[in-house]
Amino acid sequence: MNTSQIGAVYARVSTEEQTHGISLQQQTAQMLHYASVNGIEVPDAYRFAEQVSGYTNTREFYDEIRGLVAAKHITALIVYSSDRYTRDPVHGDIFRKELRLSGVTLHVVSEGGQVDITSPMGQFMRRQMDNFNWFWGQMIKQTAMEKKKAYTDASIPYVSGFACYGYERVGKRLDAHLVTVEDEAQTVQRIFSWYEQGHTVSQICELLRGVPTPGDRVRNPKRKRQPGEWNPSTIHKMLTDTTYRGVYYANRSVVVEDATGRKMRQKGKDPMPITVPALVSDEVWYRVQQKLTDNARGGGRSKTSKHEFLLTARSKCRHCGGSVSGNMASSGKAYYRCNRRYMHKTYTESGCDFMPVRVDTTDPLVWEVVKELLAHPDRVRAVLETGQEKQRTQGRAIEAQLLELDALCAEKESMLKGYSRAIAGEYARSNPNTHTIQALQVQCDDLTTSLEDIQKRRIPLLAQLDEKVISQRYIEDAVSYAAEIRDHLETASFELQREIIDRYDMRFEFELCDEFTAVVYLQWHIWEYDITVFRPGASHADLDNRNVSNPS
Ligand SMILES: [Zn+2]
Repeated sequence: MNTSQIGAVYARVSTEEQTHGISLQQQTAQMLHYASVNGIEVPDAYRFAEQVSGYTNTREFYDEIRGLVAAKHITALIVYSSDRYTRDPVHGDIFRKELRLSGVTLHVVSEGGQVDITSPMGQFMRRQMDNFNWFWGQMIKQTAMEKKKAYTDASIPYVSGFACYGYERVGKRLDAHLVTVEDEAQTVQRIFSWYEQGHTVSQICELLRGVPTPGDRVRNPKRKRQPGEWNPSTIHKMLTDTTYRGVYYANRSVVVEDATGRKMRQKGKDPMPITVPALVSDEVWYRVQQKLTDNARGGGRSKTSKHEFLLTARSKCRHCGGSVSGNMASSGKAYYRCNRRYMHKTYTESGCDFMPVRVDTTDPLVWEVVKELLAHPDRVRAVLETGQEKQRTQGRAIEAQLLELDALCAEKESMLKGYSRAIAGEYARSNPNTHTIQALQVQCDDLTTSLEDIQKRRIPLLAQLDEKVISQRYIEDAVSYAAEIRDHLETASFELQREIIDRYDMRFEFELCDEFTAVVYLQWHIWEYDITVFRPGASHADLDNRNVSNPS
């Protein structure tokens, strides 16, 4: 045993690897154990660990080590695995030359000890290892992006995952193209035509009950909805999807890295249109878009009567999740009703317990609360700022989930590397066993697929991070608008009231407490205010017998 050796240990993790099984502490522990077993003395000052990408060559501690090497302060350098000191093949060569010139030995713990960096064969092997490390690192980083680009360049839509509802992707890789799925295409066409005829999105959901939904194609154990139960947001998304008029946009969004290496999803700079089979005519598609815009703007005024409903198109039923909208009973009085409840003949059939409340008792009470909030711009600010803070906390939770996925990636990556090494080892034998190689190749393919799956799972999370962020600008706008309209609140017309509610994007939920009382929950960001509304007693049976006009 040579006790005259002085060594340095260098541990590294990249941001992507920071929760990886081989943590900095574990690497260091392994290296120090190796050093003590092999009689290499490692002074405290020579124990280096940093969190930085293996592709960067300017690393603080790494540079210090190069200094130690040049000054011949050490005779041995210990790393945990060969990809720790660099992932850059060119740099690996330079660095090993520096080690050679100063007579410093390189020890790689995961490879069992000192490695040959002097003989031509040894240098050749090291270079192969560098290339390999570079390749896998890049693979993990680039696979998804490069694949996507190749597909887009070849005008192939739907790079990963399912083709959207109504279509199926046929053909492999670069021969892939979309074909329509007959029964799904018909459903899409029915949805567009129903909407054009004046059905609401939630009515369409009811009309489609039992027809397999897009989500039914994906096995998801966490899914809350039953098969055949349509979600209004699905319908809404379909109605606005340009794919159905024959134009799919690739690169609608891109994942970018900021200065700290954090990945973010951004709006793509130049979305690239790709032609796909159209399911609806341009004419129908644009009429539907017009209608969607009109409805978003003009919600609140019923087409069949002069009555004004402050809460229509912004309200939900707390009993069943159906939408609540205002409409006229045959008595001539206006009510807020749960639409799902009224799609059915009897309330037992609907499974919803909500009973209508009078619009003329509800709206003034709600307006009082809105007025009270807006009369205090500082309160508006407080609500929004608290909401902003809450979003930040949720953002951190999503980031944590992303880190977990990264760790999983790293784990699969290292397994993949192991199998690949085994394949190389098998090839290196005098008579390689092709069965072994095949079996290992299958494992590699599996791992590559699951790595791609993990990448796919990151995307919705990244999108979530971007969604609905309360910006400082939004807060300032909301506060100054409140200050601006403060003096007009007392005399506000229905239009102004509705505009204010729309502008602040307030939401409402209705719940029945008992036969005579209902509660309207005004929800605005983190703020929820419950408003008790009294309703004249009427039983479910009474209301079922009443001749109800079509909910609108
Ligand atoms: Zn309901």
